[in-house]
Amino acid sequence: QQAAQPAKPKVLKVGTDAAFAPFEFQDEKTKEYVGFDIDLIKAIAKQMGAEVQIQSMGFDGLIPALEAGQIDIAIAGMTITEERAKKVNFSKPYYKSGLTILVKADNNTIKSFKDLEGKKIAVQIGTTGAMEAKKIKDAVIREFNNAPEAFMELKAGGVDAVINDKPVNDYYLSQGGAKDAKTVGDLLKSEDYGIATAKKNTELAQKIDKALDEVIKSGEYEKIYVKWFGK
Ligand code: GLN
Repeated sequence: QQAAQPAKPKVLKVGTDAAFAPFEFQDEKTKEYVGFDIDLIKAIAKQMGAEVQIQSMGFDGLIPALEAGQIDIAIAGMTITEERAKKVNFSKPYYKSGLTILVKADNNTIKSFKDLEGKKIAVQIGTTGAMEAKKIKDAVIREFNNAPEAFMELKAGGVDAVINDKPVNDYYLSQGGAKDAKTVGDLLKSEDYGIATAKKNTELAQKIDKALDEVIKSGEYEKIYVKWFGK
């Protein structure tokens, strides 16, 4: 007779867009996906007695992948919006974010949002930054697959500004981007990030919220926060 095997942990398929440092990106050496969101979802899964299998895809493909059942969870610095909440379930907010404007380091004409009228603006396709940019009068919007491509276009002089998430812009500036770019104006919009699951999978959404509460209570969230953002 065989001894009972411990139950195999459930594997949760997690989708992300691993070009959004410090939330999710690929470690240059190990090629592993790392970042705040990655650590957080691993801690949440552990709390649920599960394991994660992480796959990276375009940000605008995450909600369709949830709807098609290709992934169980999407964590990708995804802003909770009314529009998206019609298609997916969101966890409780787990990170307070917002949008800021980047211009070239030597630009002295764009000082705030209102100076963007008629300008060329780079954004990431399918994001809240893209939606905000589209409201600007006479602006030419250039949409890129990910944030680093938008930053590169600003550096190359192809656009006048980038509208993107503040913590990601700040991280880019802190990692050498400040040679080429700077932030102007105030926070355009305050946003909350949420973990998305398929609309019909309400049970998973509830489990994630419960596990997130535990991860916050245990101090694990704080540890992960400090690791990626400092004190
Ligand atoms: N927070 C933004 C959004 O939800 C951008 C997310 C991202 O590019 N990963 O649209």
